[in-house]
Amino acid sequence: STAAPVSDTAVAGLRAALRGEVLTAADAGYDEHRRLWNGSIDGRPAVIARCTGADDVRAAIRFGRDEQLPIAVRSGGHSFPGLSTCDGGLVIDLRRMNRVRLDPDSRVAAVQAGVLLGELDERTQEHGLVVPAGIVSHTGLAGLTLGGGIGWVMRRDGLTVDSLLSADVVTADGEVVRAGEDENADLFWGLRGGGGNFGVVTGFRFRMHPLGPQVMAGATFWSTDDAERVLRFYRDWVAEGPDELMTIVVQRLAPALPVVPPELVGRPVVAVAACYAGDVDEGQRVLAPMRGFGTPVLDVVSPKPFVAHQKMFDPSFRHGCWYSVRSCDVARLSDDVIDVVVEFGRRITSPLSSVALWQMGGAVARVPDDATAFNGRSAGFTFNINGNTAGPDGFEEQRQWARDYWTALAPFHTGVYVNFLMEEGQARVRQAYGETKLRRLTALKRQYDPTNLFRRNQNIAPG
Ligand code: FAD
Repeated sequence: STAAPVSDTAVAGLRAALRGEVLTAADAGYDEHRRLWNGSIDGRPAVIARCTGADDVRAAIRFGRDEQLPIAVRSGGHSFPGLSTCDGGLVIDLRRMNRVRLDPDSRVAAVQAGVLLGELDERTQEHGLVVPAGIVSHTGLAGLTLGGGIGWVMRRDGLTVDSLLSADVVTADGEVVRAGEDENADLFWGLRGGGGNFGVVTGFRFRMHPLGPQVMAGATFWSTDDAERVLRFYRDWVAEGPDELMTIVVQRLAPALPVVPPELVGRPVVAVAACYAGDVDEGQRVLAPMRGFGTPVLDVVSPKPFVAHQKMFDPSFRHGCWYSVRSCDVARLSDDVIDVVVEFGRRITSPLSSVALWQMGGAVARVPDDATAFNGRSAGFTFNINGNTAGPDGFEEQRQWARDYWTALAPFHTGVYVNFLMEEGQARVRQAYGETKLRRLTALKRQYDPTNLFRRNQNIAPG
């Protein structure tokens, strides 16, 4: 939706009110700051408000409301469908708000909303601590947390939201509220999975957990010709795995990276990526059967700093490439599911397309289902099917491959993780939350954002 042009006077008013910068198409830096991680998104907002704190956020919200602009909120800019920008509206950009304050003794981290995962890991790992989060270091913490947050230590420590102690939120009417177990508990429930529907989060407090700094981690690769055997063995092996073990099955063409032998580059492979969130020797022992199975074509599992492991996938998801994703949860890796995985793994043609098949369970599944808005606690595995290209060339073909793969899995879908959705319509949002939670979220939305000011998200309509 394109809005009416914004007056210079109104923009001047916002400039005067903000400590941070205000960018329009006329300003240097506009193109740099309007860009998102997903290069296929080309939003042209009228105004980008680069906020420095909650006061700036309040002023920006007031401006957006007064000017009746579509509002997008942006932290790390990693929204797959590009919901953190808009055309002709206002982007409230929090990236400058990236302060991290740690209290290692009480194991509490106070983190502003603009922080990226890698920035947080660098700081917490200095103390051998971790906030459970995601697997690519340039992802934004805020969007990830508000959807739930899955990653390498979740089976031991739970989702990112399971370590959330409180969040500071600027609501649609400009009020600043703190939500936690003891204050605004209803809002706190909704923020732990409900996305950016209830306001702009300016900062979080998290519980930290001991980890590393060395962990046993990496990935073992097999030819895709062996995929069926590997997946059947994998299924039985992970079923017995301890909570410290977290794995992701990856399908792709072997990437052109220094660790990959030249003769393997570009060949279709299946890999088991793993992280053992515990003693390194114990991790070695737990990982041995999988690494020893069949004839791996490459093995890059070793003791390494957790922060290095957190960057393993970074080169596979570079800024500016064209990304599309299809996602679903499944209960188990039945023979039928494995057949689909094997078939579509053979059909990968883009060096940037890939599948991440996430092992769920462990601590995630032990939190009561109704404790948070996040709805996928009983999922066995989560598929993230990425049809990607460097640019527009061939993008449609990759997107179609991802859709076809996902469609072939349709008989086995049990739900979907909200942070892995594209703009797929209300039925998919309902699938992500389920009827019961959606009702509760809708009531909360009515209370905190009755006019649906915040709707550039996986939207929960106030009804
Ligand atoms: P943004 O694009 O800035 O925002 C995404 C959405 O959240 C928008 O709707 C936005 O309005 C809203 N939002 C952002 N910040 C705020 C805020 N402060 N207050 C209110 N609303 C806000 N997810 C996982 O769980 N685990 C992973 O390991 C993981 N890996 C990923 C790797 C890559 C390369 C990518 C692209 C995504 C990954 N994701 C993962 C999904 C990720 O959680 C979502 O894309 C998430 O939205 C990214 O957060 P962001 O702050 O970068 O997003």
